[in-house]
Amino acid sequence: MRLHEYQAKEVFADAGIRTPESVVATSVEEVLKAGWKIGYPIVLKAQVHVGGRGKVGGIKLAVDEVESADAASNILGMDLKGYTVRKVLVEDAVDFQNELYVGVTLDRNENKPVAIVSEKGGVDIEGVADETPEAIAREHVDPSFGLHPYQAREVVYDAGIPEEKALGVADILHTLYEIWTKTDATETEVNPLVINEQGDLVALDGVLNVDENALYRQPELAELEEESYEDELERKAIEYDFDYVRLDGNVGIIGNGAGLVMTTLDMVQYYGGAPANFLDVGGGAKADRIADALDMVFTDPNVDAILFNIFGGITRGDEAAKGINGALEKFDEIPKPIVVRLTGLNADVGREILNEELVTMEESLEDAVKRVIEICEEEKL
Ligand code: GDP
Ligand code: MN
Repeated sequence: MRLHEYQAKEVFADAGIRTPESVVATSVEEVLKAGWKIGYPIVLKAQVHVGGRGKVGGIKLAVDEVESADAASNILGMDLKGYTVRKVLVEDAVDFQNELYVGVTLDRNENKPVAIVSEKGGVDIEGVADETPEAIAREHVDPSFGLHPYQAREVVYDAGIPEEKALGVADILHTLYEIWTKTDATETEVNPLVINEQGDLVALDGVLNVDENALYRQPELAELEEESYEDELERKAIEYDFDYVRLDGNVGIIGNGAGLVMTTLDMVQYYGGAPANFLDVGGGAKADRIADALDMVFTDPNVDAILFNIFGGITRGDEAAKGINGALEKFDEIPKPIVVRLTGLNADVGREILNEELVTMEESLEDAVKRVIEICEEEKL
């Protein structure tokens, strides 16, 4: 689970990391009020789970009320890579020279957390790793011992952080590691960490990703879960307990079994289409689960048509067919065209049951994929 920047910064600030004074706002009026309280200049930052917000207009500096109102009406409601901005973080603008990177993440190859520091912060750290790998210092941590203070200092010195700031940065790295452990995080990151005019280290951005499997023992963070989801769709996925991932395309995908869904995504991509989502209804999915899945994909405004790929196994073909019919009976008009590919156990029975007035049926996956892409093209015209 990825927390929003403002939530991550709250956790960081509680642990003693300095962050700019800030207020979360959801309207132009609230932004103006925040500006009045904080004092100009301020920075407005879109609270969506999108990286590199600055480059796509999600971060704006305002020096007075006029600019602030303008920036606020611009950012609120803006679409950032498919997400609608509903909240902005209004922050005291900080003047700084250098942008540093400090973080702890999980190295899945080594099965260990790794502490990372770079003097080339501000930008995407993966980009730095590609272009100037020597600008990044890393240290693996043995989780049974934790990050020793001397290790934190070593990474900081390796990264070439200016002498007078080294101890301060090492301290922040150490705190990030403690947060990492305490919150069952998979990632804690401050990028950029800057030195302000007074010479203090300030966290201008914050990332905190928490392992979802550990939420049962993180009640306070679990409460943020709902808020941290971007939209209606992700909330629904939680409510229905589906494995659901939103993508940028327009072909809605539903299947039973993660492997089958992945294959379907690949095939859609292969034939020139763009999947809108990953949705696995799972094995043993009965009629009502299928109805829920359809409801979810109907809700997605980006979806032009749906490809339902079912392999009859634990979910028998006739069960799936009943599920689709049952779900569709609820609608006076089917919201989006559906292509069904049904195979496996009881597929023939299922095909008999399926109402061909409501869905298009195809025997092979290739045909089903081509058909759904065609329909999407037609829908766009
Ligand atoms: P991200 O691009 O989505 O990771 O958003 P960040 O919070 O990292 O901000 C991107 C960039 O905006 C930073 O690297 C800074 O250069 C700039 N920025 C953010 N906050 C401030 C601020 O308070 N003052 C100034 N001058 N620049 C800021
Ligand atoms: Mn950042």
